Amino acid sequence: MIILKSSRELAIMRQAGRIVAQVHERFREVVRPGITTADLEKVASRIIEQEGAIPSFKGYRGFPAAICASINEEIVHGIPSPKRVLEEGDIISLDVGTIYKGYQGDAAITLPVGKVDEEVWRLLQVTQGALKAGIAQSHAGKRLGDISAAIQRHAEVNGFNVVREYTGHGIGQEMHEDPQIPNFGRPNRGPRLRPGMTFALEPMVMAGDWRTRTLSDGWTVVTADGSLSAHFEHTLAVTNGEPEILTKL
Ligand code: MG
Repeated sequence: MIILKSSRELAIMRQAGRIVAQVHERFREVVRPGITTADLEKVASRIIEQEGAIPSFKGYRGFPAAICASINEEIVHGIPSPKRVLEEGDIISLDVGTIYKGYQGDAAITLPVGKVDEEVWRLLQVTQGALKAGIAQSHAGKRLGDISAAIQRHAEVNGFNVVREYTGHGIGQEMHEDPQIPNFGRPNRGPRLRPGMTFALEPMVMAGDWRTRTLSDGWTVVTADGSLSAHFEHTLAVTNGEPEILTKL
């Protein structure tokens, strides 16, 4: 069941989202060659605690950390570790979730570490563009398939592929509410969007094939062919006007 949120609930979700955005803002400042993903975990945990929120990922189905930190061919669900040192030319996807006063915020960004190749930079731009294309469809009266199709089209016309197994999702008091929002699909299908719907769109785009596998840690998802992957996500609300991004400063 899709749960519509009241303006009071949206006000709280805005706060949860702002804390996620603060963490990402700090990540933009500190990500550089030599830093470890455990360092980034500490940065995130400190901000989330200072802001009176809870890291929603920690303990979720047994996930051991507050953030997912996924490097290069890792798509999502990478576990922070002091052994994972970022190197010049890497890309790192940083997914962060918070719970504030019982409501959730969830967003992801992929950052370049130092200077990256032009084609790598293009992967980041296209993935961010795919998210924007999905947000542009998130108007009352549109249908979920319009979002999925727009995300897929943007990635594919630019020569990349979208993940199949991992989807966007409704969000509110739970991190994963109905509906699921695949990163591929056909327009004019699925439920119609209504004001008060809140969901997270999260295209994961790979430079190569879309097939994935999970590493032996039981969490880290990588591209099966070892190609690079990027991930951008926002939590947003459907309104009577423009879609509202909740995970922003
Ligand atoms: Mg999400």
